[in-house]
Amino acid sequence: MSRLGCLSNPRILLFSPVPVQPGGFRPALCTEGGRVIEACDEIKALKAVKSQGIDLAILQVPLDESIDTDLSNVLRSVSPPAYLPVIIIVSDPAEALRCQLFDSGADDVISEQTSVAEIRVRIRAMLRIKELYDQLSTSRAAFERALQRERKLMARMRRDNEQLRALCTTDSLTHVQNVRSFAEIFDHEFKIAKRYGNTLSFLMLDIEHFKMVNDTHGHPSGDYVLKELAVILTQTVRESDVVARSGGEEFSILLPNGGDRQARKFAERIRKHVCNRKFIVHGQIIHITVSIGIATFPANAEIGDPSMLKYCADQALLVAKETGRDRVVAFSDLPQPTRVRLRQQYLAAWQPGSEDRQGIADEKLKLEIQT
Ligand code: GH3
Ligand code: MG
Ligand code: MG
Repeated sequence: MSRLGCLSNPRILLFSPVPVQPGGFRPALCTEGGRVIEACDEIKALKAVKSQGIDLAILQVPLDESIDTDLSNVLRSVSPPAYLPVIIIVSDPAEALRCQLFDSGADDVISEQTSVAEIRVRIRAMLRIKELYDQLSTSRAAFERALQRERKLMARMRRDNEQLRALCTTDSLTHVQNVRSFAEIFDHEFKIAKRYGNTLSFLMLDIEHFKMVNDTHGHPSGDYVLKELAVILTQTVRESDVVARSGGEEFSILLPNGGDRQARKFAERIRKHVCNRKFIVHGQIIHITVSIGIATFPANAEIGDPSMLKYCADQALLVAKETGRDRVVAFSDLPQPTRVRLRQQYLAAWQPGSEDRQGIADEKLKLEIQT
């Protein structure tokens, strides 16, 4: 066999403060193809371990010398990350000394009287362990690198998903919720309001004569106004409220736990704010006004599903426009006969089987409205 253990060209540090006796254990090292680096004092031993990639340290401790039992650990502490096995060779170690040496970090303690053949196999055994340890360290380092890559990938995926979610749920121009995302939130909030008997107000806002804004100031200026209006809305609502662009120059606002009075106050605040606001684009001042229609669940008790709530707010908005614009109208402001007529119109338009309006199939509601 030309190699020690399985390690190729192992580097063995032989630390001996006294010259190794001829005929001693030295042949056990030399005949195995390992390279032996000798050190006669601790400084040289430490230097070798630090810089020469030592695979195994053999410390020869003469019986009459005072023994630095901690030397194994000192050597290991300067060894590069790989584990450094330490064999201590003592002239004739008593049991207590052997125990002390093992306790202070030796991996093996061998008597000088041990045969060269046995020392050789014990060195080989130690190098096998060393090799296994190195393999384990390499695998562990590779695993940690892979884990690191995986973590980075996961973080990137989370970021991408967040961006994707934002892209899917928000309007690209104004960054408020888009129609699809708003519909989901609306359905959810309606169910909650219905289940817990909470109020839920829906506001439909329309910018007046917006086509004229585009025609007069250009489409990009119109875009700027839409974006600024979205900012006004998002800054005015509470955290639990939802703002969405429902298309063109129209916005929807949902006020969970917002009753009729609260919704009117909120809408009036928005209307006034917009009316008094000067939108300045390229030095030009743009004035706009908005009308807002409101419907509230369950104040308008006949409202049975989200689409009906929206319909009622739409109707209120129409009335706001027909009666002068730049105003807020709630569905409950409409005269009773108008409300009944509108509800009947809505129900007449409902087609059985239409998923959108299945909520209206509430028999009690139908009876109430027909009477
Ligand atoms: P009304 O007072 O009756 O609501 O009239 P209006 O002009 O506001 O409404 P109309 O439905 O006649 O026109 C809506 C305008 O909104 C026309 C369209 O070009 C404009 N618009 C829709 N989407 C956008 C957009 O993303 N950016 C810009 N700049 N304009 C848009
Ligand atoms: Mg419109
Ligand atoms: Mg408009």
